[in-house]
Amino acid sequence: SRQFTRPLNDLANQWNTMLSAVAGAERVFQVLDEEVESSDESRAKEVRSVEGKVTFRDVSFSYEADGNTLKHVSFTAAPGETVAFVGPTGAGKTTLISLLSRFYEPTSGAIEIDDRDIRTMMRASLRSQMAFVLQDPFLFEGTIADNIRYGKLDATMEEVKEAAKLANAHGFISRMRGGYNTRLKGDGAGISQGQKQLLAIARAILANPSILVLDEATSSIDTVTEIKIQEALQRLMEGRTSFIIAHRLNTIQQADQIVVLQNGAVTEKGSHEELTAKGGFYSGLVQGQYVLEP
Ligand code: ADP
Repeated sequence: SRQFTRPLNDLANQWNTMLSAVAGAERVFQVLDEEVESSDESRAKEVRSVEGKVTFRDVSFSYEADGNTLKHVSFTAAPGETVAFVGPTGAGKTTLISLLSRFYEPTSGAIEIDDRDIRTMMRASLRSQMAFVLQDPFLFEGTIADNIRYGKLDATMEEVKEAAKLANAHGFISRMRGGYNTRLKGDGAGISQGQKQLLAIARAILANPSILVLDEATSSIDTVTEIKIQEALQRLMEGRTSFIIAHRLNTIQQADQIVVLQNGAVTEKGSHEELTAKGGFYSGLVQGQYVLEP
């Protein structure tokens, strides 16, 4: 797991690198916790399970001493709710997730899970409540089964297969000559982008977290695989609090709550219907006045 610490020198790479390693990978975080991040407060406690209520309470944050990347951000996600973050590149969507995962701490305000300040939670156990499905999923050199099992290191082969079936990945895995024992090269070279996504979903299903973070893929994926991904994501999201960094209007429309971020501030929040009626940034987006670039 040493390889995960190296890119941390490059702050721009930090989020991607660590998030891609997140899905249940406490091993990695232990390394990070010890070597890079400030240690947990002595009062920090382990979190065994959460319902998944997430509150940002007047959160401000800046990467640099004099900046303001996030300004007084507030919203609440009820357990099981889907929240779409929408806004231009650089608005702060990724930063919200970095703060929720405690890669950074708010300058002011607080983030709470189940009404408890996440600063009182040990980082590794906080992150073990979360799973991430990213545009470019983290896959390592090893078998397909190992890659799925990364979501739960002690999972049996039965559990791995069950998760793969729910993720619509079992079909393509079974068609490979080596099945679940097929070895993947680093970065999953040799399987398609869509198949990588299905493996990431299987891994997240196996991890069974209360909180999900989805970074919607923008690269083009063939229609059949896309349908499989959407269906698998629906299953994965069922009953979990889900945050989607969304790029597509139809995904956003289905969210329980849309949080529009512009320039580090929440400028609109509400349902699709509410925001469409408001005639602000979101309604302009729906009317095709802007495009959310990847
Ligand atoms: P989004 O996800 O909405 O595109 P980000 O959260 O990635 O936005 O970025 C918000 C702002 O913070 C941008 O101005 C970006 O350049 C800046 N930023 C992001 N990550 C870092 C970092 N590690 N160090 C310094 N500035 C950063």
